[in-house]
Amino acid sequence: MSLIVQKFGGSSVSDADGIRRVARRVAETRNAGNDVVVVVSAMGDTTDDLLDLAIEVARKPPARELDMLLTAGERISMALLAMAISEVGVPAQSFTGSQAGMITDGDHGAAKLVEVNPFRVREALDAGNIAIIAGFQGVHRSTKDITTLGRGGSDTTAVALAAALNADVCEIYSDVDGVYTADPRIVPSAQKLDRVSSEEMLELAANGAKILHLRCVEYARRFNVPLHVRSSFSHNEGTWVMPTPHENFTPQKEIPLEQPLISGIAHDRTQAKITVVGVPDRPGIASRIFRLLADSKVNVDMIVQNVSTGDRPMTDLSFTLDESQGDLAMNLLRAAEEKIGYTSLDYDDQVGKISLVGAGMKTNTGVSFKFFEALANADINVDMISTSEVRISVITDVSKLDTAVRAIHTAFGLDADNEATVYGGTGR
Ligand code: ASP
Ligand code: MG
Repeated sequence: MSLIVQKFGGSSVSDADGIRRVARRVAETRNAGNDVVVVVSAMGDTTDDLLDLAIEVARKPPARELDMLLTAGERISMALLAMAISEVGVPAQSFTGSQAGMITDGDHGAAKLVEVNPFRVREALDAGNIAIIAGFQGVHRSTKDITTLGRGGSDTTAVALAAALNADVCEIYSDVDGVYTADPRIVPSAQKLDRVSSEEMLELAANGAKILHLRCVEYARRFNVPLHVRSSFSHNEGTWVMPTPHENFTPQKEIPLEQPLISGIAHDRTQAKITVVGVPDRPGIASRIFRLLADSKVNVDMIVQNVSTGDRPMTDLSFTLDESQGDLAMNLLRAAEEKIGYTSLDYDDQVGKISLVGAGMKTNTGVSFKFFEALANADINVDMISTSEVRISVITDVSKLDTAVRAIHTAFGLDADNEATVYGGTGR
């Protein structure tokens, strides 16, 4: 008998019909002779709607209360799903994150798991139940306050449970058939990948691909959990995200001898760029700027420093970050004007990032050339560039982002003849 963890995203459980469809799917897996643990997200856009409500009643909702509020979304879907599964004749019990032993630190809104003790989940399985767990939430070890793992965190709940219960596979169900060469909502000719290495998946997730939460990919890699990303609307085989081959589980697909040149293109519209103009070009200044940001947990992505000019050398330093941290970063820099000694600050949130990812880049030449040629032919100006062994990223004007993604997709020969199916969801 296998133990399978199945995670269903908000668009798979957006209404009663969806919940009933998922219930049948879960029961099917169980009736095929498997133990099943299910992790659910909040229904449809519930989390966003709750957030909007919070902001209507308070300009700055207290983080503790915001977590209390948002975790309610997942609790609604877990209870409804347990009812719907019982309705099709299989016993099911739901558990909050806290009841399922998801112990976290106290960082409300971005809590980290510090321990996973799913003994109640294990007991429920042993008693013949399907266990349903509310995603993206836990409980602070000492204060016992309820926490959330951050947006999209239900994927991480699923992988953490799969690791703790030593599951054979963690299936992540969404509204598309798997991981695509680009977001099929933007590139209809995108192709589904049969498999992708966890190294490439990390780069895609870190650079804006929303199909999997970055932390879930990291966690799966660390604990060697095979991930199968697939659709709850079809029975098609999805995408396998493979860490090193798992000892007791081998997917049907063989591992290819050569890694593909390109796995896919990720994009991210939520970037902002800050330029600190006219900073003295001497040792210690950059460290002062980035220490200031790090102390307030601002996550800096790309950094570019211009060539310095003049007799008393001055330079401009630009960096990108998520636009949600833009105000915070600007306020920190304004307050430190004297200490850093710059001339002015510039803020631009009309930028986006495009990243081309592929393990084959390590050993192939000409990838950068083709990438920049495609952008040039589409008349797209590149603002900043960064690379890793398996990735090239650029910052461009956000209005050009979709065109850029399509141009690069075509240039690398990734276009399929038929259109990708997007089964549901609003993409919000
Ligand atoms: N419901 C939460 C969100 O929308 C968590 C999740 O879906 O993973 O971010
Ligand atoms: Mg998600």
